[in-house]
Amino acid sequence: MTLRDIVSRSRRIVFFGGAGVSTASGIPDFRSGQGLYRESFDGLDPEMILSKSFFYLHPQQFFDFYRRFMVYPEARPNAAHQRLYDWEKEDKLRGIVTQNIDGLHRLAGNKRVYEIHGTVHENHCMDCNAFYPLEAVMGCEGIPRCRHCGGVIKPSVVLYGEAPDKYVCIGACREISQADTLIVAGTSLSVEPAASFLDYFSGKHLVVINREPTPADKRATLVIRDKVEQALGADLDKTESE
Ligand code: NAD
Ligand code: ZN
Repeated sequence: MTLRDIVSRSRRIVFFGGAGVSTASGIPDFRSGQGLYRESFDGLDPEMILSKSFFYLHPQQFFDFYRRFMVYPEARPNAAHQRLYDWEKEDKLRGIVTQNIDGLHRLAGNKRVYEIHGTVHENHCMDCNAFYPLEAVMGCEGIPRCRHCGGVIKPSVVLYGEAPDKYVCIGACREISQADTLIVAGTSLSVEPAASFLDYFSGKHLVVINREPTPADKRATLVIRDKVEQALGADLDKTESE
């Protein structure tokens, strides 16, 4: 069965994605060949720098890393994002659950997006909670400060050691539990609790699209070991189960 066959038979598709969905937009992932985790930064690994405790103890170093490696203001949606927007317009796609913080699904036009690790486009003063857009973090050097009270502006992204937003998670799990087809793409499924959200799926077709094997492959109806932008883009008709 091809992906197109499955999609044409589905009425409530949910897409669960990770960093691999955005690599074709020029944003590196974490764990593949060119991923960020291959490098260490002054002897520190990215997981350490992106942790809650590192943010509080070394905010200057955190923001240096964050601006350089986590934010890509020039990135644009690719063929995968575009296809998901088409499916939402056609009322095929019920929702997108993404671990990505790049905001590209919303930029593509999708409305029903659950950003379980937050987004670089939302930032808040840690003292007075004032909202700031991305420019407030990118348009300065050092630690970004609130113009009302001088507090530190923190990106509303979920750092290691922080819990994701409860209501976003509840919404995401509800969508997954009501889906007839779940497409899991561009994720190594190694970040919790996100990876466990898949356990809420009890629909008919689980489709995995990933360049490398994932823990969900054994449960899948269709595994496509290809680039997600290809599988959801030009190759929608050609894809076949491995
Ligand atoms: P990951 O790096 O652990 O895994 C990415 C997976 O995608 C790998 O298995 C890789 O083989 C695959 N992949 C890469 N490019 C692909 C492509 N074009 N087509 C198909 N597969 C491809 O990513 P993760 O599972 O999302 O976990 C990383 C965490 O880091 C997430 O929690 C996320 O918040 C964060 N992150 C976000 C971004 C972003 O916002 N774009 C980028 C890097 C990391
Ligand atoms: Zn403030």
